[in-house]
Amino acid sequence: MESTADLKRYELLIGGEFVAPSGGEYSTNLDPATENAIAYVAQGTSADVDRAVQAARAALKPWNAIRAAERGRILMRLAELLRENQEELAALESLDAGKPIAGVQRQDVPAAIDTLAYYAGWCDKINGQVVPARPDALTYTVREPVGVVGAIVPWNFPLMIGMWKIAPALACGCTLIVKPAEITPLSALMVGRLALEAGLPPGVLNIVTGKGSVVGDALVAHPGVDKITFTGSPSVGRGILQGAAGNFKRVTLELGGKSANVIFADANIDSAVRATASGIFFNAGQVCSAGSRVLVQRAVYDEVVERLGQRARSIKLGDPSQRETNMGPLISAKQMKTVLDYVDIGKGEGASLVTGGKRSGERGYYVEPTVFANVEHEMRISQEEIFGPVASVIPFDDEADALRIANGTAYSLAAGVWSADIGRVHRMTAELKAGTVWVNTYGYTDVRLPWGGSGDSGFGREHGDVAIENFTEPKAVWVALTS
Ligand code: NAD
Repeated sequence: MESTADLKRYELLIGGEFVAPSGGEYSTNLDPATENAIAYVAQGTSADVDRAVQAARAALKPWNAIRAAERGRILMRLAELLRENQEELAALESLDAGKPIAGVQRQDVPAAIDTLAYYAGWCDKINGQVVPARPDALTYTVREPVGVVGAIVPWNFPLMIGMWKIAPALACGCTLIVKPAEITPLSALMVGRLALEAGLPPGVLNIVTGKGSVVGDALVAHPGVDKITFTGSPSVGRGILQGAAGNFKRVTLELGGKSANVIFADANIDSAVRATASGIFFNAGQVCSAGSRVLVQRAVYDEVVERLGQRARSIKLGDPSQRETNMGPLISAKQMKTVLDYVDIGKGEGASLVTGGKRSGERGYYVEPTVFANVEHEMRISQEEIFGPVASVIPFDDEADALRIANGTAYSLAAGVWSADIGRVHRMTAELKAGTVWVNTYGYTDVRLPWGGSGDSGFGREHGDVAIENFTEPKAVWVALTS
C-alpha cells in the first residue's frame, strides 16, 4: 500500500470558494486499477447542501443580469480552459474512474468540451414567440430559467455526463449544485476550479461531494431546489421521484438499460462483430446503453458467437494509464462482485460460457471480457442490467421473434439493428422500443441528438433543444392593446 500522508485533499465548492465540509469528514478515494488511495474527498452534509442551495439561489439574479451573449462567452471561455488543460483533465478522469486514457482523450474530454461549446452558443438564442391569440392583445411567450438545479451524476462517465447537465443548465440561466458520484468526484471539482477562472460568478456552480444517501437525499428533499436532473440506477431514480414530490420539483431521470443489438443474417458480419464487441466491452461494459443483449439470427449465430469470443479474448485488459490498454478495471470492489455474481447466475441458468467470466489478477477490480452463448430471453442475465463486460448472445428466428425479445425487458434506452435490407431496417427502427436506435453501427452519442429512454430507463431527454426546455419555464404574457 502506498503512503497516504501526502495525498491531496479535495474540498467542497460553495459560493465560489473551496470550503471544508461542515462535519469535518473526508473519504479516501481509491484508484480502481490498483486499489491504492489517491485523494481525500470532502464528505458533504445536509448543512453543506443547504449552504450550497442558499449560494445558488443568491446567484440566480446576478447570473441572469449578465447579458446572454456574455454568459455564452463565459461558457466558451470555460470550454477553452478545458481544452488547454485537457491532458491533466484526461489523466485525472482516467485515474479516478479507471478508464483507459486513450478512450478518455478520444471521447470523454472532447465530448465534455463539445457539450459546453454547443450550449455556449445557445445562451443568446433562447427565444420566446409572439403568438397571435386575439386582435385586441399582444400575446407572447418568454422562457425563464427553472431556477436552482440539483444535478446528480454517476461514476461511469463523470465528466461527460456531468457536463450534459451543467452546460445546458448554465446556458438557460439556472444555477446548480452538482453532486458527483461519491467514488469519482475529481473531474467535477477540476471543472469547478476552471469555471471560477473562466469568470463564472460565485455561487452559479456549486459542487458538493459525498454520499448519495446524505448529499443526494438532501438535494432532492430541499425546498430551495427547483429541478433535479439525475443519471443513475432505476432504484435510486424511483426514490428521487418520490423525494422530489415535496415541492413538486421538475425531474429528469436517465436510468439503466439492457439494450438489444440485433444482427440479421444479411448484415455485414465483420462490421457487426467489431461494433458489437465495442458496444459491450467499451468502458468495461459500464455504459447505460451497452449492447448487453446480442440478438443473432440463427443462420449466422455460431459464426457470430465464435468471432465475438475471439474479439473478447483479443482485448488488452490492463493499466488504464497505458495508451495500448483497451479495457480497464471496473469501478469498485462492489461492482466487480455484482458482475461476477451475474456470471455465476448465468452459468446456473444454463447459459454457455464462451470466454471470460473471471476476475483478472489480484489487485484492481479487473474482470475478463465475458461472452455467454445460448442465452434464453427469460434468463436473468438477459433481463437484468449487469453493468459490466458481459455479453449475452441470444438466437432468434425472424423479425417478429427479434422484436419480441428486443422489446421484452423493462428497459428502453437504446437498440442496434444490423441488416442490408433497407425495408427491414425501417420496420425494425419503427418497432424497437428505445430512445436511440443505431443502424449498422452502435454506440454513438452526440449532444445535438436527444438522449434518454422510457420505462425503467427513466423519462425526459438530455441534449439538443430538448435540454433547453428541461431547464426553462415558459411564461405567457398578455398585453391588452385597448385602454
Ligand atoms: P447510482 O444510482 O447508485 O448513483 C448515481 C448517483 O446517485 C450517484 O451520484 C449517487 O451518489 C447518487 N445517489 C445514490 N443514492 C442516492 C439517494 N438516495 N438520493 C440521491 N442521490 C443518490 O448509480 P451508479 O452506480 O452511480 O451508476 C450506475 C447506473 O447508472 C446504472 O444503472 C446505469 O445504467 C445508470 N446510468 C444511466 C445513464 C443514462 O444516460 N441513462 C448513464 C450512465 C449510467
